[in-house]
Amino acid sequence: MATHSPSPETSGDDADLLSLLSLEEKAALLSGRDFWTTQPVDKAGIASIVMTDGPHGVRRQVGATDHLGANGSEPATCFPLAVAVGSSWDPTVAERIGEAIGREASALGVDVLLGPGINIKRSPLCGRNFEYYSEDPVLSGVLGAGHVTGLTSEGVGASVKHFAANNQETERMRISADVDERTLQEIYLPAFEHVVTRARPATVMAAYNSINGVPASENHWLLTEVLRNEWGFTGTVVSDWGGVLDPVAALRGGLDLEMPGTNGRSAARLIEAVRSGELDETQIDAAALRVIALSRLSRNRVISGDTDSPVDFDAQHALARKLAAECAVLLKNDDDVLPLSGQGTVAVIGEFARTPRFQGGGSSRVNSTRVDVPLDFIRDVVEAAGGTTTFAPGFTLDSEGLQDGFTDAVAAAAGSDVAIVFAGLAESDESEGFDRETLTLPSAQIDVIRAVAEAAPRTVVVLANGGTVTLEGWHDDVDAVLEGHLLGQAAGSAVTDLLFGATNPSGKLAETLPIRLVDTASFANFPGEQGHVRYGEGVLVGYRWHEAAEIPSRYPFGHGLSYTSFSSEHLTVTVTGPDTVNVEVTVTNTGARAGRHVAQVYVSTDAGPVRRPVRELKAFEKVTLEPGESRRLTWELDRRAFAYWDIDTAGWVVAPGSYAVQVCADAATVLLEKTVELDGDDIIRALTLMSTVDEWFAHPLTGDVLRNALAGDAAAKGGTAVTPQLLRMIGSMPMSKVADMLADDVPREFFDSLMSRSRDAATPASTTPDAA
Ligand code: BGC
Repeated sequence: MATHSPSPETSGDDADLLSLLSLEEKAALLSGRDFWTTQPVDKAGIASIVMTDGPHGVRRQVGATDHLGANGSEPATCFPLAVAVGSSWDPTVAERIGEAIGREASALGVDVLLGPGINIKRSPLCGRNFEYYSEDPVLSGVLGAGHVTGLTSEGVGASVKHFAANNQETERMRISADVDERTLQEIYLPAFEHVVTRARPATVMAAYNSINGVPASENHWLLTEVLRNEWGFTGTVVSDWGGVLDPVAALRGGLDLEMPGTNGRSAARLIEAVRSGELDETQIDAAALRVIALSRLSRNRVISGDTDSPVDFDAQHALARKLAAECAVLLKNDDDVLPLSGQGTVAVIGEFARTPRFQGGGSSRVNSTRVDVPLDFIRDVVEAAGGTTTFAPGFTLDSEGLQDGFTDAVAAAAGSDVAIVFAGLAESDESEGFDRETLTLPSAQIDVIRAVAEAAPRTVVVLANGGTVTLEGWHDDVDAVLEGHLLGQAAGSAVTDLLFGATNPSGKLAETLPIRLVDTASFANFPGEQGHVRYGEGVLVGYRWHEAAEIPSRYPFGHGLSYTSFSSEHLTVTVTGPDTVNVEVTVTNTGARAGRHVAQVYVSTDAGPVRRPVRELKAFEKVTLEPGESRRLTWELDRRAFAYWDIDTAGWVVAPGSYAVQVCADAATVLLEKTVELDGDDIIRALTLMSTVDEWFAHPLTGDVLRNALAGDAAAKGGTAVTPQLLRMIGSMPMSKVADMLADDVPREFFDSLMSRSRDAATPASTTPDAA
C-alpha cells in the first residue's frame, strides 16, 4: 500500500520548488514530456509521472504509443467494462475493480490511470457507451466515486473523464454540445460533482468537445468557476490527448497540463505570451504548482517484468470472474428456464461462444492476460452434470455477419433439450471514434436466433454488446435473455456461472432498453449537424424521456430478474429537517435461493416553475438476502434530492410543495409510494419591467399592492375591472407594455418603487450548490 496521497494538493514545499524554476522550466511542466509521461525537473527533484489508460484495465505501452488501442501494451487483466459495472448497481463492485486495477497499475509503473469515464449515455448510439456507466447521473456518480476510491486506495491517481458533455464520438474533437444551463446542472455535471467532492480524484480530464461554443479545455466557466470555485477541486486538470487547441486560452480557462507532449511548442507559446504581456506569469505559476503536486504521485517505478511481478494474475482473474457475474442482467426468464441443470443435450450456438466479445475498441483496449471461452466452461459444467454439448457457430463476426453453418445451427438446436445462442456486436460494429447508426443486431444473427428458437424446445440468448441492442424481431420467440454487455476477460466463465446457477443474477439495466431508435430522447438531435449538437430533449434523458412521453420501452431502466424473488414493504417517509427526508423500507427475499436485490428510491414531483421529470432516481442500495431474510433499509435524502436548478438565481431550489417518494422495481414500476410536503425555499425574485404581469401579481411583495393600484386605475377611468379572464390574456405580457398601453395613468415611479423593493428583498444569485 502506498504511503503518499493520491489526491495531491499544492503545499508550501511545492511553492519552494517552484521558486527554483525559471519561466522556461515552469512552462515546460505544463505539457507532457512524451505520449504518456510528464516533464521532470531534475535539479528541483520534480519527478516525471506516468499516465495511461484505463479505465477497466491497464494499457501500459512500452513500445509504440497511441491513443486508439492500435499498438501493443503489457499484459493486464481486463475487468468488466463500465457498461457492465453500471448494471451492477453496486459501488463496491466499482471499488474492487478500482483497487484491482490500481494493483496492476502500480506494478506496471503507472502513477495515474485515465478513468473512470462517467459521461451520461445521452444516446444509445454513442460509440463509447461501453466506457460509461449509465443514463442517470446519480448512478454514474456513485459508481464513479467507487472506482476512484479503489484506485486511490492503491496509491494510483484517477483521471475522471471526459469533462463535460462528451456524449458522442461523431466529430468528437470539434463538436459543440449546445446544452441549456439547467440540463447541464441536473444531468451532465452531477456525476462529476459527486466524484470530485466525494472521492477527490487526482486529476480531471477536460473533454475534446466544446460546450455552447467554448472548447471544454479552454472553458473558464467549467474548469474554474464550477470545478474549482464551486466544487473545490484542488487536483490537476489535464487535457484529453491532443485536446488543446490554444495553450494560452487553455491555461486561462483553468487547464493545468496538456497531454501528450508537443515537443516544446506549447511551452514556447506560453513563454512568448508572458513576454508579450498577453499572459500573467502568475497563471503559469498556479498551474505549475498543481503539476508539481501531481508529480508527488511518482515513485519512479520501473516495469518490473513478469517474473518478479507482485501481481497475482490468477487472483485478479478470479476477481474479474466474480465481479463480472454481479454485472450481467437477466432480462427475461420464462417458466424459469434458467438456471440450467446441465443434463440432457445443450446446443451452444453462435461464433461468440468460442470467440468471445468482452471489451471495446480504442484507447481502453487491454492486452488481456487470458480469456475465458464460454464454450469451454459450458462443456465442463455440462459434462460434470452428465449431459452432452454440441456446438455450431451459426454466423461469422465479419461486418456482414454472413451466415455460416445456419443449417448446422438449426440441426443442433433441433437435437437439443436447450439451445444457448451467444449473440451480440462484433468489435467492428462499435468503438471509440465513431457512433453507431442502428440499434439492431446484425440480421444474420437475428435469423439464426429465430430459426434456433423455432427448432429447439427451449432457447436462451446471451448477449455481448457495448452499446444497447434492441431485442425486436426475436424477443418473443426465445425463453430467456441474459444481457452481459461487455464483461471483461472472465466473461465466459462468469456467464457460465449465471446460466447454471452457481451465481444468482443480480444486475439491473443502467440504461433504458428501447423498442425502436426513434423512441429515444435524443433521436431528433443526434449526432448534430454543422458542428453543433443541440441537446433539445433537455433534462428528459433516458427513462426521464420515456416516462414523460409515455413511450414504452422493451425493458425499463432498473429492470433485472433474479432466480429468487423479493418483496418491498412498510415504506416510511419522514421529514427530518428543512427539506430533508428519511426513507425506510423493508425488503425480503421471498424465494428459495440466496440473492442480491437492488432497492431503488425515486422522487416524483411537479412542484416549481420548471417541468420536472415524472420521477428521478435519488438513492439505491444493493443487498444480499438469504431465503426468507428481511432487511430494513434507510436513506437520508438531502435537499438536493428535491431541488431543481433555478436559472434565475443560478442555484439549487427546493420548490414548496408535495413530493412523492417512490420505491420502484424499475423506472416504470412503482411498488410503494408516500408523499411529503416540503416547505421549500422562499425565493424572492427581483422584478423588472420585462417581468410578466403574472410574475408581478404572484410576487409576495408586490402582488396585492399592484392589484389594488390597477383596479383603482381602471375604476377611475370607468374601465373594466381586472377579471380573471383579462388577467389570463395579459398574464404573460411584460409589465412595461401593460404600463404603456393599459395603465398609463399609474405613475412610473410607482413601478420603480415596487421594483426597488423587490430588488432589495431578492434572493441573491448564487452558484454555490449543495453537495451532490
Ligand atoms: C481518449 C481518452 C484517453 C486518451 C489517451 C483519448 O483519445 O478520449 O479517453 O484517455 O485518448 O489514450
